[in-house]
Amino acid sequence: MLIIKTRERKRENPSHPKQRSPFKIRVKNSYKTTIMIRLNLQLCKCFKQISFENEITAFNRYVSSVNIETLVCPFCGAKHALSPFASYKRHLVTYNNNNSNNNNVAQDNIIIISRYICSSCKRTHTLLPSVIVPYMSFSFNFTVYLIYDYFVHKYHSVEAMCEHYCIAISTFYRILKKFKEHKQIWLGLLEDKLISNLSFVQHIINSSFDELEDFIIQFFKQNGSSFFQGTS
Ligand SMILES: [Zn+2]
Repeated sequence: MLIIKTRERKRENPSHPKQRSPFKIRVKNSYKTTIMIRLNLQLCKCFKQISFENEITAFNRYVSSVNIETLVCPFCGAKHALSPFASYKRHLVTYNNNNSNNNNVAQDNIIIISRYICSSCKRTHTLLPSVIVPYMSFSFNFTVYLIYDYFVHKYHSVEAMCEHYCIAISTFYRILKKFKEHKQIWLGLLEDKLISNLSFVQHIINSSFDELEDFIIQFFKQNGSSFFQGTS
């Protein structure tokens, strides 16, 4: 689970982020401050059985299971200080198996994102489950399957694939570029050469929800942005 706070901010010292507590990592990127909280393990255990197959179910379970008392303000570190502030609707395009042909289809969903306010520092924060890539309307699963289908040549052309996924070709190439870039960042130059794009994306697809959650969060901690973030 990510708690993201965004706010225009000048770049400060780009070196290692200062850690204030094990559950709270503050990371700086070029122009925004993005802050994430890792929920405690007890809470995460309930998600072990959730598959990424239906991300809307995963999203709803996540949101309904949030115990606000366990959240620490990612900005000032205050405990028990967050309370519901507002919510807004946004689109989340998922890739679900929801028809009788057993084929996945792109599906546009409207989800409700909750914002919380900290009574101590008065800042607001957004709670983003890991199925959501910040600033992108496509879900994590959608994006991973798109990349996978490309590398296994599931469709006879990129045009046909993009038509199936209902996305522009230019959008696909932006996502592909980001995938390669983030794979290299995650694996390092040497490993990146040894592990093919296909095996990497296959590994992501075969991961359990728990492993994925961990990967998404570890990547965020290292780089200050989520895997696939920055494609829009
Ligand atoms: Zn605060």
